[in-house]
Amino acid sequence: MRLAGRIALVTGGSRGIGSAVVRKLASEGAKVAFNYHSSSEAAGQLVSELELDQREAACWQADVRNGEDAAALVGKVIDKWGKIDILVNNAGVIRDNLLAMMSPEDWNEVIQTNLNSVYHFCHAVTRPMMSARFGRIINMSSVAAHYSNPGQANYAASKGGVEGLTRCLATELARRGITVNAVAPGFIETDMTEAVVNAAGDKIKKAIPCRRLGQPEDVANAVAFLASEEASYITGQTITVDGGLTLGGMAG
Ligand code: NAP
Repeated sequence: MRLAGRIALVTGGSRGIGSAVVRKLASEGAKVAFNYHSSSEAAGQLVSELELDQREAACWQADVRNGEDAAALVGKVIDKWGKIDILVNNAGVIRDNLLAMMSPEDWNEVIQTNLNSVYHFCHAVTRPMMSARFGRIINMSSVAAHYSNPGQANYAASKGGVEGLTRCLATELARRGITVNAVAPGFIETDMTEAVVNAAGDKIKKAIPCRRLGQPEDVANAVAFLASEEASYITGQTITVDGGLTLGGMAG
């Protein structure tokens, strides 16, 4: 139980990678709070599942694009459990299109959800974490921050921003016992990738040296490590979880 006694907050915990992170942190002994945006039923089921397993979990509705929602959610977790040790900024969206056709709405939606949210939640937790002289902040990036496909200018910009923010905040908080790292998944089987996997799943698998798509649990394992005591000397880094996709070899 690497995270016994820890309090965690995960954004976008209702499904996909976020729900796997919630399950993993809880299985390691943390009390886990998370937010959902639209998936209230899935969120409620996840809390019930964890409680049946004798874990402590809680969820609230919050829109991560909104700074007031972020501050209120952090306040609710601290009111309930007294502190936040671990913040996982996971919530994210894609709105793919070639830039020439990309609407301002789709640009802003992705930047607000994937990048501005990380500012809002980091801003809300840093003072309590600094007072506690302990914290683990883990931000969800993507291999798209470094390796580009057409149609993802908004998404690549948001994840590049997340990694820059991660490095900068790591330098600001290291002396207070707070680490700030990112995880960059490759192709993970979730609702976000369903359409592309349905269209080209076998082709994608052939391009991945591990010869399989990633599962949400593969990402959750990296998050749990970064949240643990074992990772206390790692900060400002990005761990890529992609089965070797971005190594650049000829997967033959
Ligand atoms: P997903 O299955 O589509 O789930 C997205 C999650 O984000 C949901 O829990 C959703 O909540 C939440 N969310 C979206 N907009 C929100 C908002 N405005 N306020 C609050 N929550 C919001 O996506 P995923 O594949 O698990 O992706 C999770 C993270 O990993 C994202 O940051 C994504 O960019 C990153 N990532 C994923 C992959 C991949 O291959 N899947 C690869 C690289 C990086 P509701 O359901 O309640 O609306």
